[in-house]
Amino acid sequence: MTDTDCIFCKIVAGDIPSTRVLETERVLAFRDLYPKAPTHVLVIPKDHYANAAEVAAADPGLTGEIVAAAGEVAAAEGVADSGWRLIANSGPHSGQDVFHVHFHVLGGKPLGPMVS
Ligand code: IMP
Repeated sequence: MTDTDCIFCKIVAGDIPSTRVLETERVLAFRDLYPKAPTHVLVIPKDHYANAAEVAAADPGLTGEIVAAAGEVAAAEGVADSGWRLIANSGPHSGQDVFHVHFHVLGGKPLGPMVS
């Protein structure tokens, strides 16, 4: 499942460059282009789903693979012990800009309050 207008589908296809840090059969992790923390990696399913609720409803197993991949990324980035945050924005009030579900893996510094 791909969306021809979706930039993250294009990253999965290799049509837009990205710095990949982890890849499995169904999941891709790559560095955020505009990092908000020393570690800022996006973990996505290769198939196109709009948000976390949509992928969880359609394929709970895939959602587990994404979260497991996020944990592997945190360990590989060296932030597993210091702590890290996993965020998936959904919809306008959250600030979601890209409507291909992505989980932000953030860490490498104290992250402060979750909502500002
Ligand atoms: P959102 O606000 O939760 O939708 O997050 C979208 C994220 O995608 C932002 O943190 C952007 O910096 C990031 N982003 C947008 N375009 C690219 C790209 O081409 N490569 C990597 N990250 C991107």
